[in-house]
Amino acid sequence: MHPDFPRHGNLFRRFSTPWIKCLSRFSGIFHTVEKSARFFHAMENFFAFFPRYGKKACPASAGFSTPWKTSPHALSCVPAFPVFLLTVLPAFLLFHLTGCSPGPRDAALHGRTMGTTYSIRIARPPLTRQEWRALQADVDAVLDELNRQMSAWRPDSEISRFNRAGVNEPVAVSADFAHVVRRALDLAAATDGALDPTVGALVNLWGFGPDGLRRDAPPPDAIAAARKTTGWRHLTLSPDGRLSKAVPGLQLDLGAVAKGHGVDRVAALLRDRGLEHFLVEIGGETLAEGLNADGEPWRVGILRPDQSGHLHGVLSLTGGRAVATSGDYRQFFRDSDGRIRSHIIDPRTAAPAGHAVASVSVLADDSLTADALATALLVLGPDDGLRILRGGFPGTEALWILHSPGGGFEEASTRSFVSTARYHLGSGPR
Ligand code: ADP
Ligand code: MG
Repeated sequence: MHPDFPRHGNLFRRFSTPWIKCLSRFSGIFHTVEKSARFFHAMENFFAFFPRYGKKACPASAGFSTPWKTSPHALSCVPAFPVFLLTVLPAFLLFHLTGCSPGPRDAALHGRTMGTTYSIRIARPPLTRQEWRALQADVDAVLDELNRQMSAWRPDSEISRFNRAGVNEPVAVSADFAHVVRRALDLAAATDGALDPTVGALVNLWGFGPDGLRRDAPPPDAIAAARKTTGWRHLTLSPDGRLSKAVPGLQLDLGAVAKGHGVDRVAALLRDRGLEHFLVEIGGETLAEGLNADGEPWRVGILRPDQSGHLHGVLSLTGGRAVATSGDYRQFFRDSDGRIRSHIIDPRTAAPAGHAVASVSVLADDSLTADALATALLVLGPDDGLRILRGGFPGTEALWILHSPGGGFEEASTRSFVSTARYHLGSGPR
Protein backbone atom coordinates (compact mmCIF):
# COMPACT_ATOMS: atom_id res chain seq x y z
CA MET A 1 0.00 0.00 0.00
CA HIS A 2 1.08 3.54 -0.59
CA PRO A 3 0.77 6.87 1.20
CA ASP A 4 -2.50 8.71 1.12
CA PHE A 5 -3.06 10.96 -1.83
CA PRO A 6 -5.05 14.17 -1.59
CA ARG A 7 -8.64 13.11 -1.91
CA HIS A 8 -10.84 14.49 -4.61
CA GLY A 9 -14.19 12.95 -5.18
CA ASN A 10 -16.45 14.04 -7.93
CA LEU A 11 -19.94 13.52 -9.09
CA PHE A 12 -20.84 12.23 -12.47
CA ARG A 13 -24.36 11.57 -13.57
CA ARG A 14 -25.86 10.42 -16.80
CA PHE A 15 -29.28 11.61 -17.75
CA SER A 16 -31.38 9.87 -20.31
CA THR A 17 -34.96 8.97 -21.12
CA PRO A 18 -36.38 9.92 -17.66
CA TRP A 19 -35.87 13.55 -18.75
CA ILE A 20 -37.97 12.91 -21.77
CA LYS A 21 -40.74 11.23 -19.78
CA CYS A 22 -40.66 14.11 -17.37
CA LEU A 23 -40.93 16.67 -20.14
CA SER A 24 -43.84 14.82 -21.70
CA ARG A 25 -45.71 14.90 -18.39
CA PHE A 26 -45.25 18.63 -17.99
CA SER A 27 -45.73 19.90 -21.48
CA GLY A 28 -48.25 17.49 -22.95
CA ILE A 29 -46.35 17.26 -26.20
CA PHE A 30 -46.08 13.52 -25.97
CA HIS A 31 -45.50 12.82 -29.63
CA THR A 32 -42.68 15.27 -30.04
CA VAL A 33 -41.03 13.87 -26.96
CA GLU A 34 -41.42 10.28 -28.08
CA LYS A 35 -39.84 11.27 -31.37
CA SER A 36 -36.94 12.84 -29.48
CA ALA A 37 -36.58 9.66 -27.48
CA ARG A 38 -36.47 7.60 -30.63
CA PHE A 39 -33.95 10.05 -32.05
CA PHE A 40 -31.74 9.67 -28.97
CA HIS A 41 -31.89 5.89 -29.19
CA ALA A 42 -31.16 6.05 -32.91
CA MET A 43 -28.11 8.21 -32.17
CA GLU A 44 -26.96 5.72 -29.55
CA ASN A 45 -27.23 2.86 -32.01
CA PHE A 46 -25.60 4.97 -34.69
CA PHE A 47 -22.58 5.53 -32.48
CA ALA A 48 -22.46 1.86 -31.59
CA PHE A 49 -21.13 1.28 -35.09
CA PHE A 50 -18.06 3.33 -34.44
CA PRO A 51 -15.45 1.79 -32.20
CA ARG A 52 -14.43 5.13 -30.74
CA TYR A 53 -17.89 6.18 -29.62
CA GLY A 54 -19.93 3.01 -29.67
CA LYS A 55 -21.08 0.95 -26.70
CA LYS A 56 -18.15 -1.41 -27.00
CA ALA A 57 -15.67 1.38 -26.42
CA CYS A 58 -18.00 3.33 -24.20
CA PRO A 59 -17.84 1.84 -20.73
CA ALA A 60 -19.97 4.52 -19.10
CA SER A 61 -22.94 3.77 -21.31
CA ALA A 62 -22.94 0.10 -20.53
CA GLY A 63 -22.19 -0.05 -16.83
CA PHE A 64 -18.77 -1.17 -17.82
CA SER A 65 -16.14 -0.97 -15.13
CA THR A 66 -12.74 0.01 -16.39
CA PRO A 67 -10.29 0.20 -13.53
CA TRP A 68 -6.57 0.21 -14.28
CA LYS A 69 -6.26 -3.53 -14.42
CA THR A 70 -9.23 -3.09 -16.56
CA SER A 71 -8.84 0.71 -17.40
CA PRO A 72 -10.23 3.85 -15.77
CA HIS A 73 -10.92 6.18 -18.65
CA ALA A 74 -14.38 6.70 -20.01
CA LEU A 75 -13.57 10.00 -21.67
CA SER A 76 -13.59 8.50 -25.14
CA CYS A 77 -17.33 8.25 -24.62
CA VAL A 78 -17.82 11.99 -25.09
CA PRO A 79 -19.70 12.33 -28.36
CA ALA A 80 -18.24 14.27 -31.23
CA PHE A 81 -18.59 17.99 -30.70
CA PRO A 82 -21.00 18.75 -33.57
CA VAL A 83 -23.37 16.07 -32.36
CA PHE A 84 -23.14 17.46 -28.89
CA LEU A 85 -24.02 20.92 -30.28
CA LEU A 86 -26.95 19.66 -32.33
CA THR A 87 -28.56 17.25 -29.89
CA VAL A 88 -27.37 17.17 -26.31
CA LEU A 89 -26.99 20.90 -25.74
CA PRO A 90 -30.44 21.96 -27.05
CA ALA A 91 -32.05 19.09 -25.16
CA PHE A 92 -30.27 20.12 -21.99
CA LEU A 93 -31.41 23.74 -22.34
CA LEU A 94 -34.96 22.76 -23.26
CA PHE A 95 -35.41 20.44 -20.33
CA HIS A 96 -33.92 22.88 -17.90
CA LEU A 97 -36.16 25.69 -19.09
CA THR A 98 -39.23 23.54 -18.50
CA GLY A 99 -38.18 23.02 -14.88
CA CYS A 100 -38.02 19.23 -15.14
CA SER A 101 -35.81 17.56 -12.66
CA PRO A 102 -33.82 14.91 -14.52
CA GLY A 103 -33.96 11.31 -13.38
CA PRO A 104 -30.47 9.89 -13.03
CA ARG A 105 -29.76 6.69 -14.92
CA ASP A 106 -26.63 5.81 -13.07
CA ALA A 107 -24.06 7.74 -11.14
CA ALA A 108 -20.51 7.39 -10.00
CA LEU A 109 -18.25 8.42 -7.15
CA HIS A 110 -14.53 8.65 -7.64
CA GLY A 111 -11.62 9.31 -5.36
CA ARG A 112 -8.17 8.18 -4.32
CA THR A 113 -7.18 5.71 -1.65
CA MET A 114 -4.37 3.24 -0.90
CA GLY A 115 -2.10 4.87 -3.48
CA THR A 116 -4.59 4.24 -6.25
CA THR A 117 -8.07 5.28 -7.34
CA TYR A 118 -11.49 4.04 -6.39
CA SER A 119 -14.76 4.27 -8.24
CA ILE A 120 -18.31 3.37 -7.39
CA ARG A 121 -21.13 3.18 -9.90
CA ILE A 122 -24.72 3.02 -8.77
CA ALA A 123 -27.51 2.19 -11.20
CA ARG A 124 -30.47 4.56 -11.05
CA PRO A 125 -29.54 5.78 -7.57
CA PRO A 126 -32.53 6.68 -5.41
CA LEU A 127 -30.51 9.41 -3.70
CA THR A 128 -30.91 13.15 -3.36
CA ARG A 129 -27.93 15.35 -4.01
CA GLN A 130 -27.41 15.71 -0.25
CA GLU A 131 -27.61 11.97 0.39
CA TRP A 132 -25.18 11.50 -2.43
CA ARG A 133 -22.67 13.91 -0.87
CA ALA A 134 -23.11 12.22 2.50
CA LEU A 135 -22.44 8.87 0.88
CA GLN A 136 -19.19 10.13 -0.62
CA ALA A 137 -18.12 11.44 2.80
CA ASP A 138 -18.95 8.09 4.42
CA VAL A 139 -17.07 6.12 1.77
CA ASP A 140 -14.03 8.36 2.21
CA ALA A 141 -14.24 7.98 6.00
CA VAL A 142 -14.25 4.17 5.72
CA LEU A 143 -11.29 4.18 3.34
CA ASP A 144 -9.35 6.73 5.44
CA GLU A 145 -9.82 4.51 8.46
CA LEU A 146 -8.44 1.51 6.56
CA ASN A 147 -5.42 3.56 5.50
CA ARG A 148 -4.84 4.60 9.10
CA GLN A 149 -4.80 0.95 10.06
CA MET A 150 -3.08 -0.85 7.21
CA SER A 151 -0.88 1.50 5.18
CA ALA A 152 2.75 0.55 5.73
CA TRP A 153 3.58 3.85 4.01
CA ARG A 154 2.22 5.87 6.95
CA PRO A 155 4.53 5.92 9.97
CA ASP A 156 1.55 6.50 12.29
CA SER A 157 -0.53 3.54 11.04
CA GLU A 158 -1.26 0.49 13.16
CA ILE A 159 0.73 -1.69 10.78
CA SER A 160 3.80 0.58 11.03
CA ARG A 161 3.53 0.50 14.81
CA PHE A 162 3.48 -3.28 14.70
CA ASN A 163 6.38 -3.39 12.23
CA ARG A 164 8.50 -1.33 14.64
CA ALA A 165 7.63 -3.59 17.60
CA GLY A 166 10.12 -6.13 18.96
CA VAL A 167 9.86 -9.90 19.23
CA ASN A 168 7.05 -11.17 21.47
CA GLU A 169 5.92 -7.61 22.13
CA PRO A 170 2.17 -7.86 21.43
CA VAL A 171 0.50 -4.91 19.76
CA ALA A 172 -3.25 -4.38 20.17
CA VAL A 173 -4.89 -3.72 16.81
CA SER A 174 -8.40 -2.64 15.85
CA ALA A 175 -11.10 -5.15 15.02
CA ASP A 176 -11.05 -4.52 11.28
CA PHE A 177 -7.30 -4.89 11.15
CA ALA A 178 -7.46 -8.11 13.17
CA HIS A 179 -10.13 -9.46 10.81
CA VAL A 180 -7.90 -8.80 7.76
CA VAL A 181 -4.85 -10.39 9.41
CA ARG A 182 -6.91 -13.44 10.42
CA ARG A 183 -8.18 -13.86 6.86
CA ALA A 184 -4.67 -13.36 5.47
CA LEU A 185 -3.27 -16.03 7.80
CA ASP A 186 -6.05 -18.47 6.86
CA LEU A 187 -5.40 -17.84 3.19
CA ALA A 188 -1.64 -18.23 3.72
CA ALA A 189 -2.31 -21.67 5.18
CA ALA A 190 -4.71 -22.57 2.36
CA THR A 191 -2.27 -21.54 -0.38
CA ASP A 192 0.78 -23.35 1.02
CA GLY A 193 2.22 -19.96 1.98
CA ALA A 194 2.12 -18.51 -1.55
CA LEU A 195 0.19 -15.66 0.01
CA ASP A 196 2.34 -14.55 2.90
CA PRO A 197 1.48 -11.32 4.72
CA THR A 198 4.94 -11.26 6.33
CA VAL A 199 6.90 -10.65 3.13
CA GLY A 200 7.28 -6.92 3.94
CA ALA A 201 11.07 -6.96 4.30
CA LEU A 202 11.51 -8.77 0.98
CA VAL A 203 9.05 -6.49 -0.81
CA ASN A 204 11.02 -3.53 0.45
CA LEU A 205 14.40 -5.07 -0.34
CA TRP A 206 13.40 -5.76 -3.93
CA GLY A 207 12.37 -2.14 -4.36
CA PHE A 208 8.59 -2.33 -4.16
CA GLY A 209 8.08 -0.92 -0.66
CA PRO A 210 8.31 2.41 1.16
CA ASP A 211 12.12 2.47 0.76
CA GLY A 212 11.76 3.03 -2.98
CA LEU A 213 12.65 1.46 -6.30
CA ARG A 214 15.89 -0.30 -7.15
CA ARG A 215 17.23 -1.23 -10.56
CA ASP A 216 19.54 -4.11 -9.67
CA ALA A 217 18.97 -7.30 -7.71
CA PRO A 218 19.88 -7.02 -4.00
CA PRO A 219 23.02 -8.84 -2.78
CA PRO A 220 22.46 -12.48 -1.71
CA ASP A 221 23.34 -11.83 1.93
CA ALA A 222 20.73 -9.08 2.12
CA ILE A 223 18.17 -11.47 0.62
CA ALA A 224 19.14 -14.16 3.13
CA ALA A 225 18.82 -11.69 6.01
CA ALA A 226 15.40 -10.45 4.87
CA ARG A 227 14.24 -14.00 4.37
CA LYS A 228 14.92 -14.78 8.04
CA THR A 229 12.38 -12.12 8.99
CA THR A 230 9.56 -13.62 6.93
CA GLY A 231 7.17 -16.53 7.38
CA TRP A 232 3.47 -16.37 8.20
CA ARG A 233 3.90 -18.98 10.93
CA HIS A 234 5.97 -16.44 12.87
CA LEU A 235 2.97 -14.13 13.13
CA THR A 236 0.32 -14.73 15.77
CA LEU A 237 -2.96 -13.04 16.48
CA SER A 238 -4.55 -13.63 19.88
CA PRO A 239 -8.34 -13.97 20.17
CA ASP A 240 -8.46 -10.52 21.79
CA GLY A 241 -6.77 -8.88 18.78
CA ARG A 242 -3.14 -8.67 19.86
CA LEU A 243 -0.56 -9.22 17.20
CA SER A 244 2.94 -10.48 17.84
CA LYS A 245 5.99 -11.61 15.92
CA ALA A 246 8.22 -14.55 16.80
CA VAL A 247 11.26 -13.43 14.79
CA PRO A 248 12.99 -10.06 14.96
CA GLY A 249 12.40 -7.65 12.10
CA LEU A 250 9.21 -9.32 10.82
CA GLN A 251 7.36 -6.83 8.61
CA LEU A 252 3.67 -7.20 7.99
CA ASP A 253 2.51 -6.25 4.48
CA LEU A 254 -1.21 -6.31 3.72
CA GLY A 255 -0.84 -4.88 0.21
CA ALA A 256 -2.15 -8.09 -1.36
CA VAL A 257 -5.45 -8.02 0.53
CA ALA A 258 -6.18 -4.48 1.69
CA LYS A 259 -7.77 -3.23 -1.52
CA GLY A 260 -10.01 -6.27 -1.64
CA HIS A 261 -11.02 -5.70 1.96
CA GLY A 262 -11.69 -2.03 1.17
CA VAL A 263 -14.02 -3.09 -1.65
CA ASP A 264 -15.90 -5.42 0.71
CA ARG A 265 -16.23 -2.66 3.32
CA VAL A 266 -17.55 -0.14 0.80
CA ALA A 267 -19.98 -2.71 -0.62
CA ALA A 268 -21.26 -3.39 2.92
CA LEU A 269 -21.76 0.34 3.44
CA LEU A 270 -23.76 0.64 0.21
CA ARG A 271 -25.94 -2.34 1.17
CA ASP A 272 -26.51 -0.73 4.57
CA ARG A 273 -27.82 2.34 2.77
CA GLY A 274 -30.36 0.15 0.97
CA LEU A 275 -28.57 0.26 -2.39
CA GLU A 276 -28.99 -2.90 -4.45
CA HIS A 277 -27.37 -2.19 -7.81
CA PHE A 278 -23.77 -1.06 -7.75
CA LEU A 279 -20.21 -1.72 -8.80
CA VAL A 280 -17.32 -0.96 -6.43
CA GLU A 281 -13.73 -0.87 -7.58
CA ILE A 282 -10.45 -0.01 -5.84
CA GLY A 283 -7.30 -0.14 -7.96
CA GLY A 284 -8.84 -2.75 -10.21
CA GLU A 285 -10.35 -5.04 -7.55
CA THR A 286 -14.06 -5.02 -8.33
CA LEU A 287 -17.32 -6.24 -6.79
CA ALA A 288 -20.75 -6.07 -8.41
CA GLU A 289 -24.18 -6.20 -6.85
CA GLY A 290 -27.45 -6.28 -8.78
CA LEU A 291 -27.66 -4.99 -12.32
CA ASN A 292 -26.47 -1.98 -14.27
CA ALA A 293 -28.77 0.77 -15.52
CA ASP A 294 -29.58 -1.32 -18.60
CA GLY A 295 -30.87 -4.12 -16.36
CA GLU A 296 -27.92 -6.36 -17.19
CA PRO A 297 -25.06 -7.78 -15.13
CA TRP A 298 -22.21 -5.31 -14.83
CA ARG A 299 -19.49 -5.83 -17.37
CA VAL A 300 -15.86 -5.71 -16.32
CA GLY A 301 -12.95 -5.54 -18.71
CA ILE A 302 -9.70 -7.40 -18.09
CA LEU A 303 -6.73 -5.52 -19.47
CA ARG A 304 -4.26 -7.17 -21.77
CA PRO A 305 -1.25 -7.63 -19.45
CA ASP A 306 1.09 -5.32 -21.32
CA GLN A 307 1.51 -1.59 -21.69
CA SER A 308 -1.01 -1.28 -24.55
CA GLY A 309 -3.98 -0.46 -22.35
CA HIS A 310 -6.12 -2.69 -24.58
CA LEU A 311 -8.71 -5.06 -23.25
CA HIS A 312 -7.97 -8.75 -23.27
CA GLY A 313 -11.45 -9.88 -22.33
CA VAL A 314 -14.75 -8.94 -20.77
CA LEU A 315 -16.71 -10.68 -18.03
CA SER A 316 -20.13 -10.26 -16.47
CA LEU A 317 -20.38 -9.69 -12.76
CA THR A 318 -23.38 -9.63 -10.42
CA GLY A 319 -24.76 -11.17 -7.21
CA GLY A 320 -22.11 -9.70 -4.92
CA ARG A 321 -19.33 -11.56 -6.75
CA ALA A 322 -15.87 -10.03 -6.94
CA VAL A 323 -13.02 -10.16 -9.43
CA ALA A 324 -9.40 -9.25 -8.71
CA THR A 325 -6.36 -9.28 -10.95
CA SER A 326 -2.66 -9.50 -10.13
CA GLY A 327 -0.11 -9.03 -12.85
CA ASP A 328 3.51 -8.45 -13.71
CA TYR A 329 2.81 -5.59 -16.08
CA ARG A 330 2.26 -2.52 -13.92
CA GLN A 331 4.96 -2.69 -11.30
CA PHE A 332 7.99 -4.69 -12.23
CA PHE A 333 11.72 -5.01 -12.03
CA ARG A 334 13.84 -6.15 -14.97
CA ASP A 335 16.57 -8.53 -13.78
CA SER A 336 20.11 -8.81 -15.17
CA ASP A 337 18.90 -11.32 -17.77
CA GLY A 338 16.34 -8.80 -18.94
CA ARG A 339 13.43 -10.82 -17.52
CA ILE A 340 10.50 -8.99 -16.02
CA ARG A 341 10.09 -9.57 -12.28
CA SER A 342 6.77 -8.62 -10.75
CA HIS A 343 6.19 -6.79 -7.46
CA ILE A 344 4.84 -10.03 -6.07
CA ILE A 345 7.36 -12.03 -4.08
CA ASP A 346 7.55 -15.78 -4.26
CA PRO A 347 8.08 -16.62 -0.58
CA ARG A 348 9.69 -19.95 -1.59
CA THR A 349 12.56 -18.25 -3.42
CA ALA A 350 12.55 -14.88 -1.59
CA ALA A 351 12.63 -13.26 -5.04
CA PRO A 352 10.02 -11.68 -7.28
CA ALA A 353 7.75 -14.26 -8.86
CA GLY A 354 9.14 -14.75 -12.31
CA HIS A 355 7.57 -17.30 -14.57
CA ALA A 356 5.24 -17.51 -17.50
CA VAL A 357 2.25 -15.94 -15.76
CA ALA A 358 1.52 -12.39 -16.95
CA SER A 359 -1.66 -11.95 -14.95
CA VAL A 360 -4.24 -13.86 -12.94
CA SER A 361 -7.86 -12.86 -12.47
CA VAL A 362 -9.88 -14.52 -9.73
CA LEU A 363 -13.64 -14.58 -9.35
CA ALA A 364 -14.84 -15.18 -5.77
CA ASP A 365 -17.69 -14.50 -3.37
CA ASP A 366 -15.89 -11.62 -1.70
CA SER A 367 -13.24 -9.19 -2.80
CA LEU A 368 -10.67 -9.95 -0.10
CA THR A 369 -10.59 -13.60 -1.13
CA ALA A 370 -10.36 -12.69 -4.82
CA ASP A 371 -7.55 -10.20 -4.12
CA ALA A 372 -5.57 -12.61 -1.94
CA LEU A 373 -5.95 -15.53 -4.34
CA ALA A 374 -4.97 -13.46 -7.37
CA THR A 375 -1.65 -12.73 -5.64
CA ALA A 376 -1.19 -16.34 -4.51
CA LEU A 377 -2.06 -17.80 -7.91
CA LEU A 378 0.40 -15.51 -9.63
CA VAL A 379 3.08 -17.02 -7.39
CA LEU A 380 1.86 -20.60 -7.89
CA GLY A 381 1.16 -20.64 -11.63
CA PRO A 382 -1.68 -22.63 -13.24
CA ASP A 383 -0.73 -26.18 -12.21
CA ASP A 384 -0.31 -25.68 -8.47
CA GLY A 385 -2.93 -22.95 -8.54
CA LEU A 386 -5.59 -25.25 -9.98
CA ARG A 387 -4.79 -27.87 -7.37
CA ILE A 388 -5.15 -25.33 -4.54
CA LEU A 389 -8.43 -23.99 -5.91
CA ARG A 390 -9.93 -27.44 -6.41
CA GLY A 391 -8.90 -28.50 -2.92
CA GLY A 392 -10.03 -25.50 -0.90
CA PHE A 393 -12.10 -22.99 -2.85
CA PRO A 394 -15.24 -24.41 -4.43
CA GLY A 395 -17.03 -21.86 -6.61
CA THR A 396 -13.91 -19.77 -7.03
CA GLU A 397 -12.75 -19.41 -10.62
CA ALA A 398 -9.48 -18.20 -12.10
CA LEU A 399 -8.06 -17.12 -15.43
CA TRP A 400 -4.33 -17.08 -16.06
CA ILE A 401 -2.94 -15.09 -18.95
CA LEU A 402 0.44 -16.56 -19.80
CA HIS A 403 3.32 -15.20 -21.84
CA SER A 404 3.54 -17.57 -24.77
CA PRO A 405 7.06 -18.61 -25.81
CA GLY A 406 6.70 -17.11 -29.27
CA GLY A 407 5.46 -13.75 -27.91
CA GLY A 408 1.83 -12.82 -27.27
CA PHE A 409 -0.40 -14.48 -24.72
CA GLU A 410 -2.14 -17.76 -23.99
CA GLU A 411 -4.90 -18.47 -21.51
CA ALA A 412 -5.50 -21.15 -18.91
CA SER A 413 -8.53 -21.17 -16.66
CA THR A 414 -10.62 -23.21 -14.28
CA ARG A 415 -13.27 -25.21 -16.08
CA SER A 416 -16.14 -22.87 -15.28
CA PHE A 417 -14.46 -19.49 -15.53
CA VAL A 418 -15.78 -18.81 -19.01
CA SER A 419 -19.37 -19.94 -18.32
CA THR A 420 -19.67 -18.51 -14.80
CA ALA A 421 -18.33 -15.12 -15.78
CA ARG A 422 -19.84 -15.22 -19.27
CA TYR A 423 -16.29 -14.34 -20.17
CA HIS A 424 -15.37 -13.62 -23.73
CA LEU A 425 -12.30 -12.32 -25.44
CA GLY A 426 -12.50 -8.68 -26.37
CA SER A 427 -9.76 -6.90 -28.17
CA GLY A 428 -9.09 -3.34 -29.18
CA PRO A 429 -8.87 -0.11 -27.28
CA ARG A 430 -10.65 0.01 -23.95
P1 ADP B 1 -1.69 -5.00 -6.72
O1 ADP B 1 -1.21 -4.25 -5.54
O2 ADP B 1 -1.04 -4.63 -7.97
O3 ADP B 1 -3.17 -5.09 -6.80
P2 ADP B 1 -1.56 -7.54 -5.45
O4 ADP B 1 -2.96 -7.49 -4.96
O5 ADP B 1 -1.14 -8.84 -6.01
O6 ADP B 1 -1.23 -6.48 -6.53
O7 ADP B 1 -0.65 -7.16 -4.21
C1 ADP B 1 0.74 -7.02 -4.37
C2 ADP B 1 1.32 -6.47 -3.10
O8 ADP B 1 1.24 -7.46 -2.08
C3 ADP B 1 2.78 -6.14 -3.24
O9 ADP B 1 2.95 -4.80 -3.63
C4 ADP B 1 3.30 -6.43 -1.85
O10 ADP B 1 3.06 -5.31 -1.02
C5 ADP B 1 2.46 -7.57 -1.37
N1 ADP B 1 3.01 -8.89 -1.69
C6 ADP B 1 3.95 -9.23 -2.59
N2 ADP B 1 4.13 -10.54 -2.63
C7 ADP B 1 3.28 -11.08 -1.73
C8 ADP B 1 2.99 -12.40 -1.31
N3 ADP B 1 3.61 -13.47 -1.82
N4 ADP B 1 2.06 -12.55 -0.34
C9 ADP B 1 1.42 -11.50 0.19
N5 ADP B 1 1.65 -10.24 -0.16
C10 ADP B 1 2.56 -10.02 -1.12
MG1 MG C 1 -3.95 -9.16 -4.35
